[in-house]
Amino acid sequence: MDDDALTRALIHALRERRDSFEAPDGRRYSRQDMQARLRELIAADLIVMRTCSLSAAIVVAAPHVSFDNWTQYYANRVAPALQAGEVLARNFRDEDGSKIPVSIGRHLHVNRPTESERRGGREFESDRARAVHADYIGALVQAGGKAPLDLLIELHGHHRHTVLEAATTGISEAEARVILDAYRAATGNQTGSPELHIEPLHELRYAARSAKELGSLRDSVCRRALHLELPRQCRDTAANREAFQPILTEWLRSCMTMFEMAA
Ligand SMILES: [Zn+2]
Repeated sequence: MDDDALTRALIHALRERRDSFEAPDGRRYSRQDMQARLRELIAADLIVMRTCSLSAAIVVAAPHVSFDNWTQYYANRVAPALQAGEVLARNFRDEDGSKIPVSIGRHLHVNRPTESERRGGREFESDRARAVHADYIGALVQAGGKAPLDLLIELHGHHRHTVLEAATTGISEAEARVILDAYRAATGNQTGSPELHIEPLHELRYAARSAKELGSLRDSVCRRALHLELPRQCRDTAANREAFQPILTEWLRSCMTMFEMAA
């Protein structure tokens, strides 16, 4: 049985809630063994995709690939267009609905030093979660070229509602108003583009509280941050992604111009 077949068989056994699995070579796996083997078979990795070539240190990061699906798609397009650094963290959150549809005992939050026992579960700090988070911060600094970064653009995805939410660090109310106007201009007030809610102007559903307290949104990591929750309708079809990606890029470029960071 090759690794791909074993991966599929172990995922299937866990989905069926089996307590044990016997491989064709006679090896028996307990539930815990199945999870441990899947953690080896499905690597979680942290990648500095590109380094920033601007005078300001700007990084586009997607810490929840592929749990926040299609954030890699956006990061891979937006970062080069802006000449920003790019960081991806992949497969750290299990129960992602696609590649890791079951719990394999690895649900790390990456952009903060915590993990959860299950999707949506209570967050707690652990040695491995702290280690992965430290590596993530190291990757951000490497991609940006200095610490703290001048601007971190962190891409996330949520399913619960239809608004684009921007939790922020280091953005004043006056700046948020300009950013909101720039977003409306970038969308050309097109119907179908999500509304933007941005701190500190709006109260958000996803305020990224623990990333602000413990993680990547602390001011020791970045002077400014836009933590973006892309709603499902920006990610769910190829047509929607292709329509929204240039809007997102143009909007972020105008934010950089406003902060005098553009190339
Ligand atoms: Zn996320």
